[in-house]
Amino acid sequence: MRVTWTDLSAAAEGSAVEVTGYPMAAGGARQARRFLLLPEAACCPGHAPRDPSGAIEVFADTPMTLGNSALRLRGTWRAGEDGWRYQLQDAQPLDTPGWRAITRRGLMAAGPLMCLAGPGCAAPADGARAEAVIAAGRPIDIHSHAGGIANSNRIRQGAGYSAIAAPMRQGGMAAICLAMVSDSPTHHVVDGRIRPYRNPAAGELYAYGTLAFGRIRALVESENLRIVATAADLRGTSRAAPGVIIAAEGADFLEGRLERLEEAHARWTLRHLQLTHYRVNELGDIQTEPPEHGGLTDFGAEVIRQCNRTGIVVDVAHGTLDLVKRAAAVTTKPLVLSHTSLNNRPGPTSRQITPEHAKVIAGTGGVIGVWPSASIYPTLTAMAVGIARLVDVVGVDHAGLGSDLRGLVGGTVFADYDALPGFTEALLQAGFTDQDAAKILGGNYARVFTASLGG
Ligand SMILES: [Zn+2]
Ligand SMILES: [Zn+2]
Repeated sequence: MRVTWTDLSAAAEGSAVEVTGYPMAAGGARQARRFLLLPEAACCPGHAPRDPSGAIEVFADTPMTLGNSALRLRGTWRAGEDGWRYQLQDAQPLDTPGWRAITRRGLMAAGPLMCLAGPGCAAPADGARAEAVIAAGRPIDIHSHAGGIANSNRIRQGAGYSAIAAPMRQGGMAAICLAMVSDSPTHHVVDGRIRPYRNPAAGELYAYGTLAFGRIRALVESENLRIVATAADLRGTSRAAPGVIIAAEGADFLEGRLERLEEAHARWTLRHLQLTHYRVNELGDIQTEPPEHGGLTDFGAEVIRQCNRTGIVVDVAHGTLDLVKRAAAVTTKPLVLSHTSLNNRPGPTSRQITPEHAKVIAGTGGVIGVWPSASIYPTLTAMAVGIARLVDVVGVDHAGLGSDLRGLVGGTVFADYDALPGFTEALLQAGFTDQDAAKILGGNYARVFTASLGG
């Protein structure tokens, strides 16, 4: 059916619809996967309408080119949650002839749009405010596979990368923790879940690590990104000079040999190590498989101590609560849990964490990166509310963003770094102050990184 602006509530949840309106992306971006559709051109760029129900939040798989003219779109209708915005998901552009006659009357009836900033648009509204928060802070993504570096087949085939630096600059992201996936050769997706399906051969994951770290280095060089080796390097990153913190998701490449940690630090500039991933490895137990070690192993404890000495951030994402508790007892530096979300009653193999689990991380002075998984948070707004709930439990000094870009099996509401202004806007709309939003966007991780590396 065709949706008219005079009665957005008429379309049924989940139905296929057509709608025409004027696009407005956060920060006035000219290309975006997520943007607002308005019944008439926005009064000034970046100003969201006063009435959220008078706008449609659009989600597209590929970025759409946005201009000042109207767009005619087709997609799946979502009636909005908690009285928030209507949504058009899986949006695709249609050609435009013929729409004006159909919707003109609807546009007139909808009345003039009002700015959040009020008459005359004198004060900055959320779009401009979000840009100011991004510009004043140093946004950091705590967990990313940007460029397409998570899949072992792609790595082995030398498959082409997708761009990283351009979307970072567009969105205003200063630095990302770019993670190779240490156990990628030994797991696969079954029924929507990632499971290990075989044991690695001796030497296999070390050799794969060499290949995967090498690919990250080549990618970083080809994208002209800075490699962050010190806390001062991190302070030197910005929208204009974006940087990469080399990370590993899973310490499986060590194959139980501690000296390989020093080697990865020196040879690959490894500065952020996640102990476990989808394989119960030599370091400890994981959330998605039955426990075998009762948490963190003695070798896992040794690796944490060595990370503390060498200057490598310790990330306990994917680890069981027992692993996290022992890690917190062993470490002398704050812990990171880079990608997850809060759930009071997570299922037995869930990657989400309880308030108790979150408090263990916060108790080390650490930071928890929140995941933009679409199955948990259908919109950036919902994700911002989820972050607010986490902050209620652990405080605003212990939350961050872990996008898992190009790594999430299901959908994501943070598909690329051009989503950063929209995400920041959602944080502000969820009630965070500019200062608190800046902490969540990167300040908290920068504190942990500096504590872990010194300087
Ligand atoms: Zn993960
Ligand atoms: Zn990941």
